[in-house]
Amino acid sequence: MKGLIDAHCHLNDERIFAEIPEALKLGISSFISSALCQEEYDWHIQNEIPNMKWCAGIHPYYKKSKESDLDRIIQLCEEKKIVGIGEIGLDGRNDNEDWQNRILLQQLDIACNFDLPIVFHIVRKYYELYKILKNNFPKVTGYLHGFNASKDIAENFSKFDLAFSIGCKPPKNDCIDYIIKRGFFLFETDAPYQQPLYSKEEYNHLKNLLWNLENISKITGISVAKLIESQYKNHKMIYK
Ligand SMILES: [Zn+2]
Repeated sequence: MKGLIDAHCHLNDERIFAEIPEALKLGISSFISSALCQEEYDWHIQNEIPNMKWCAGIHPYYKKSKESDLDRIIQLCEEKKIVGIGEIGLDGRNDNEDWQNRILLQQLDIACNFDLPIVFHIVRKYYELYKILKNNFPKVTGYLHGFNASKDIAENFSKFDLAFSIGCKPPKNDCIDYIIKRGFFLFETDAPYQQPLYSKEEYNHLKNLLWNLENISKITGISVAKLIESQYKNHKMIYK
């Protein structure tokens, strides 16, 4: 189980923070946590956890994310506190398109300037993101977190140097097969969000990363050990 990494979660949630020892015992070796507003940036600075790296970003849908956080994100980059920008992106559940586009472009610029990967959060706006990246940021790096769109969309985004991060709500089997064959993939929980479909619990848990891998292994016929080996190599490519 060496090298199994949760590519996206929110450790500042105190319920999830309390699960870290159990997750480590289960063989999850490290976590990429995401901080989405000033108080979460502060939490991540104050809680240096040996097995945690973290990203900061202004989320398109999260109410506490503010445009005024941009300066702080630049500062976090300058101080080398963060390993990436995220989660950032476009979210079709809100109709503040202009704001979302402006914030996304500014953060893509920051990532470019500091040569950092991006953790993308996209809801119903893959086509819009595709256009932005193709026209302005074709050399973008990072991954589409919690990817569960169609195989067609996965094929289009494969033109970029982006990985697909599979969460507890995975895409359809044909898309999973495509992503795993392509080879550039990660696994995540997004805990406390995105619990598995079967789950009757109130929130998602770090331990469900194992459920996620076993599920993908069953669908693809590729062993869990092999999936872990590949995701570890992929992390090394993204977070140099
Ligand atoms: Zn998230």
